[in-house]
Amino acid sequence: MTGFIGKQSESPNQPSESEAQPTSQGVVLDLAGYCPICEKETRFVAKDKWYRGSLLCQMCTNGSVPRERALALVLRETVPNWPNLFIHESSPMNRGISIVLKRDCENYVGSQYFPEQPFGTKVGEWQNENLEALTFPDNSFDLTITMDVMEHVFHPKLALQEIYRTLKPGGYYICTFPIRKYLTEPMTVRASIKNGEIVHADGITPEYHGNPVAKEALVTVDYGYDIHHLISYWTSFDTRIYRFSDRRHGIMGEYTEVVVCRKPDVNARLPAK
Ligand SMILES: [Zn+2]
Repeated sequence: MTGFIGKQSESPNQPSESEAQPTSQGVVLDLAGYCPICEKETRFVAKDKWYRGSLLCQMCTNGSVPRERALALVLRETVPNWPNLFIHESSPMNRGISIVLKRDCENYVGSQYFPEQPFGTKVGEWQNENLEALTFPDNSFDLTITMDVMEHVFHPKLALQEIYRTLKPGGYYICTFPIRKYLTEPMTVRASIKNGEIVHADGITPEYHGNPVAKEALVTVDYGYDIHHLISYWTSFDTRIYRFSDRRHGIMGEYTEVVVCRKPDVNARLPAK
């Protein structure tokens, strides 16, 4: 019997293995499909083998990438009435599903992190919030969304507990963040704060990602396969993780997991009278 041993990327910035050869226009993947963000028949085109950042919907405003389409697909399946709900999205980008959420949901709050400004106030079009110490009252939202934010917070436990607190009973937290394939344990810390200074863990090369309102964001945490257990240990969320290889919806490549956390609906658990 022959075993299958898949090659694994060590880092989200490392290109995935692909047999595809570029066309004369530099296209390495061109899929016909349906986009769950713009809700159109479209083409998903990549000019780079790292599909996580390069496989773009040709119909979405400013494009969209696989993890955003994965989140949109799960969102539309899990919470189809989302336009009528109270939604908080932390650190939205100006593309993909964030544009659609803001456009179609009347009670949408987009927040960004401006540490120099007072929290709980407006900064331009954004609500200024620290995800680890939100200013919203308990039970404010039906739905909280973050896309590739959790790997940049210094205290993910606090952030998850704050998201839990500000969700209504029965509310959902739907998010994406890289879950490292080589890592079984729930998380390892890459960088921490000590006496106001950033301290990098031993042997870790600092890694930075794009940030919607700042130049770059340090990756503070690597999450692993068992992160769902840790989320449910830190909070009372019921948690599940979706993983994709979905050409029809253009969800191909590495790190497309969507994590769905539901705050228990306490009333639903009461015995019937
Ligand atoms: Zn689209």
